[in-house]
Amino acid sequence: MKITVLGAGPAGLYFALLMKKQRPAHAITLLERDGPNDTFGWGIVFSQRTVEVLKDSDPDTCAEITRRAETWDDVAVVHKGQRITVGGNRFYGIARITLLNILHRRCLDHGVEIRFLTNVADLSELGPSDLLVGADGANSLVRRAYADFFLPLVDLRQNKYIWLGTEQPFEGLTMGFRQADAGLFITHSYRFSPTMSTFIVECPPEAWLKAGLDRMSGEETCVYLAGVFKAELQGRSLRSNNFAKWLNFPLVKNKRWHHRNVVLLGDALHTAHFSIGSGTKLALEDALALAGCFAEHRTVEAALPAFERVRKPIVDEFQQAATESLTWLENVGEHLGLDPVPFAYRLMTRSKRVGYNRLKQKDPAFIARYDRWRQEHPSTGAIPEEFLDLFQKRTFAHLATQMADGTPHVTSVWVDYDGKHVLINSAKGRLKDRNMEQRPHVALEITDPDDPNRYLAVRGAVAEITEEGADEHLDKLARRYLGRDQYPPGWKLPGEVRRIYKIAPERVTPWAPFR
Ligand SMILES: Cc1cc2nc3c(=O)[nH]c(=O)nc-3n(C[C@H](O)[C@H](O)[C@H](O)COP(=O)(O)OP(=O)(O)OC[C@H]3O[C@@H](n4cnc5c(N)ncnc54)[C@H](O)[C@@H]3O)c2cc1C
Repeated sequence: MKITVLGAGPAGLYFALLMKKQRPAHAITLLERDGPNDTFGWGIVFSQRTVEVLKDSDPDTCAEITRRAETWDDVAVVHKGQRITVGGNRFYGIARITLLNILHRRCLDHGVEIRFLTNVADLSELGPSDLLVGADGANSLVRRAYADFFLPLVDLRQNKYIWLGTEQPFEGLTMGFRQADAGLFITHSYRFSPTMSTFIVECPPEAWLKAGLDRMSGEETCVYLAGVFKAELQGRSLRSNNFAKWLNFPLVKNKRWHHRNVVLLGDALHTAHFSIGSGTKLALEDALALAGCFAEHRTVEAALPAFERVRKPIVDEFQQAATESLTWLENVGEHLGLDPVPFAYRLMTRSKRVGYNRLKQKDPAFIARYDRWRQEHPSTGAIPEEFLDLFQKRTFAHLATQMADGTPHVTSVWVDYDGKHVLINSAKGRLKDRNMEQRPHVALEITDPDDPNRYLAVRGAVAEITEEGADEHLDKLARRYLGRDQYPPGWKLPGEVRRIYKIAPERVTPWAPFR
């Protein structure tokens, strides 16, 4: 098979390597605009799990990567000047250029042709091939050329970020939150060689403009940010390289993954926010999955649909976690008032992939500190602190009320919490309204829309029913559930009178056994 791969990043290189190993007869050409020693950014991170996947698929590459990588177990959270560490998170940090050079060598050793310094401006420049792989990154030319078929969605996120380097050797993956005069700045930093660390900074656009970062040179930017993060950097400087510039993170998705003999891979297909450090992992695993589909199905016609079928659910799940993480960081202002320990807990659980139980397994000492903090600061309401997020998203509750004949009645409702009562908003005269007015005992099951295995079961009684403020409350709910400023007036029945039902919880059962 004649295979052309556009882009020699991790996805393109690893796919070419695995295909060539699978069938040395394949003629594989990689086209790359950069030279073999050019790259953007500094270092990247892999988790232990990724390393295990690589070990199974190509032990030699994996051995080389782990030999050259820095390792650590802690995530450190710096908030209000205090450093909280959470252990049990084995990570590997490696310079992006080192990773690429390892893959270059492996590809060349196996007979893959890599044409460096070859910028492809138009796909018509490419000769015919049996398979064209668009592994050309987040701004993919292949994706744009076939946009009518791939149906891409590119959501540019609000925060500005820049990828810098420093000689400060960070211990563990450090996330620092600093309030400067201009606003909030967040760093994600980690060591990727004995002498160098990656230092990514992100900030809301308001802080970026107020600080004048839109007008600063690379050098001025480094000086400014080194001042903001003086404590984390212990006075060391920041460095930019030729590729350093402020960007908005593009959240890329594609409705379709392949068209005829063309397929997308890695960032061209999907991006995952750097705060969960999984972009390179996803790129390499895509390559592995696509090569696996060719091993099983042989033909392009069969392998490409199989790739989408097998891989998409996994990628969707990761993107969901990464999106949770980036959204949390975009809205971190809501959490900045917290003490460092509960703040670190919220940060560690932000992607919803890890919860209390998993954290306890990873680092019992951290959870003991968190539990101590909870005992010293008992929740003023009945809903546990770590389940309050359910009232910040589009969570539907199932409300059970009792009919006059004693039989149950269940409806799906929007749900809110005022710190003391669970709030439901409905209309006078409806069945549930009459039930709650006459028989105030109710039960609710409030399920996390992102993880149906996580829910709150609440039993209690309606303490108050009020019409006061009910329309405003409904508008507030519409902002969360519909993304609209106002509940659509056309959705109300003529003469509808809205009511708020304040349910005092008597028994609350939080359920999240698998996280
Ligand atoms: C700030 C930041 C931090 C990150 N940190 C991490 C991390 O810690 N861990 C992690 O796993 N991931 C991280 N990532 C993500 C990671 O860099 C990407 O997800 C990963 O590089 C994707 O690999 P890829 O091969 O799909 O694309 P890329 O690495 O982008 O490679 C695409 C290649 O295609 C080439 N190319 C593009 N267009 C053309 C063209 N027209 N002609 C010729 N060549 C072309 C480019 O030069 C490039 O070499 C981070 C990303 C950012 C932005």
